[in-house]
Amino acid sequence: MSTYDLIVIGGGPGGYVAAIRAAQLGMNVACVEGRGALGGTCLNVGCIPSKALLTSSAKYAEISHLSSHGIEVEGASIDIGAMMGRKDKIVGDLTKGIGFLFKKNGIDLIEGWASIPAAGQVQVGDTIHEAKNILIATGSEPTSLPGIEIDEQDILSSTGAIALDTVPDHLVVIGAGVIGLELGQVWARLGAKVTVVEYLDRVLPGIDGEIAKLAQRALSKRGLKFQLGRALKSVGKTDAGLSLIVDRVGKDKEEVIEADKVLIAVGRRPVTRGLGLDALGVALSARGFIEVDGTFQTSVPGIYAIGDCVPGPMLAHKAEEDGVACVEILAGQAGHVDYNTVPGVVYTDPEVASVGLTEEALKEAGTEYSVGKFAFMANSRARSIGETDGAVKVLAGDDGQILGAHICGAHGGDLIAELVLAMTKCATVSEVAATCHAHPAMGEAVKEACLDALGRAIHA
Ligand SMILES: Cc1cc2nc3c(=O)[nH]c(=O)nc-3n(C[C@H](O)[C@H](O)[C@H](O)COP(=O)(O)OP(=O)(O)OC[C@H]3O[C@@H](n4cnc5c(N)ncnc54)[C@H](O)[C@@H]3O)c2cc1C
Repeated sequence: MSTYDLIVIGGGPGGYVAAIRAAQLGMNVACVEGRGALGGTCLNVGCIPSKALLTSSAKYAEISHLSSHGIEVEGASIDIGAMMGRKDKIVGDLTKGIGFLFKKNGIDLIEGWASIPAAGQVQVGDTIHEAKNILIATGSEPTSLPGIEIDEQDILSSTGAIALDTVPDHLVVIGAGVIGLELGQVWARLGAKVTVVEYLDRVLPGIDGEIAKLAQRALSKRGLKFQLGRALKSVGKTDAGLSLIVDRVGKDKEEVIEADKVLIAVGRRPVTRGLGLDALGVALSARGFIEVDGTFQTSVPGIYAIGDCVPGPMLAHKAEEDGVACVEILAGQAGHVDYNTVPGVVYTDPEVASVGLTEEALKEAGTEYSVGKFAFMANSRARSIGETDGAVKVLAGDDGQILGAHICGAHGGDLIAELVLAMTKCATVSEVAATCHAHPAMGEAVKEACLDALGRAIHA
């Protein structure tokens, strides 16, 4: 039996970062991971493999559309096996890298599935490890719809959709959220017909409506078909493939869609089973998330939780911030996460990036605000690189403070960082507008949007 200052359950971005930070702060730390590799959902089946495939597929799509540059490429072909091999190598290298960081920081890796028989104890197999504090970072897993069973052969979750060995003829994506759109675009670029079916009458729920519309328009131009206001009722297997029945929401009308693969991308749920939380009396929310207080402590003293298994945005960087803040608080420091400034990025082409409040949320709250917008069509760098779709939108309060910022456009995921920093440092639109931006650069659109909020955009 070994005794630790902290045992972290789960080696995803929340758990492994918390373990490293805790070790830096002088704690004696162990991390338990059951899946046989560190890095969690993010490195193994989430952020990293999806971005690797987005990059490979973008290169293939680009090669087929170079004629406006005067470049003709003949005979381009795809080797899906090689593409998947590249993705798997990136994943393997990164997950091994975390093992190295654990060794460097003196963190014990305990391989296996953990449960908590009592506060202060973590059981893995037949061994019970003692810990002053326990941090649950068990993450999340894909959900499905009632009556629809994911088999990862034809009816896929994101995990199956990043591991196909051939390009499907027709992929139907259920859910126009981040994961559905990213993976839908991967396979559309590689030659699949992709139809996105969404219950709501819009794409990217939660994102500023105007920016989501720009994204939908751009993605439609790039080949994705959208069927909005439709609910998947059933998926049947036929000799030819799959037969999906969808309901038109609010209308008494059914439609049939034939497909060979369907990706169910309707959300993720927290992973808490098998931990023994019921017996311990750890309180869960109605949706199964672990309830925590401002110090990340659960309803049981000495047991903490962070990342996807607690309420809040399911994002790797949010899980990391939670983890760092939690262990800093445990070490007596002032750990803190500002959830108003957690950015979210959709890595489609064009990218969609946002931070803070949407215009819809400001209207609903009755807050006075001004809007500044700048379209990439008027940005000279966007023109030169041929990426003119989309716009930057900033929302400012009556004192000029940035309340929200939303971007649809190439490199939006990088451009948002400036606005996140501005919000974190309480900079106003005037201060961002007064900052010298290099020319020609996509970032000039951020400056121009801030100038527009002040009524003095130069190039619009
Ligand atoms: C396709 C896809 C793309 C994504 N893209 C992005 C993106 O671009 N950017 C972004 O920010 N987020 C992205 N995400 C979300 C991101 O992956 C998660 O928000 C993030 O991984 C959450 O981190 P976590 O540490 O809370 O949990 P996880 O990463 O889920 O890690 C939890 C770990 O705990 C382990 N575990 C669970 N129970 C036990 C147990 N009882 N004992 C031992 N180990 C256990 C699991 O095996 C897992 O490895 C994506 C997700 C998917 C599916």
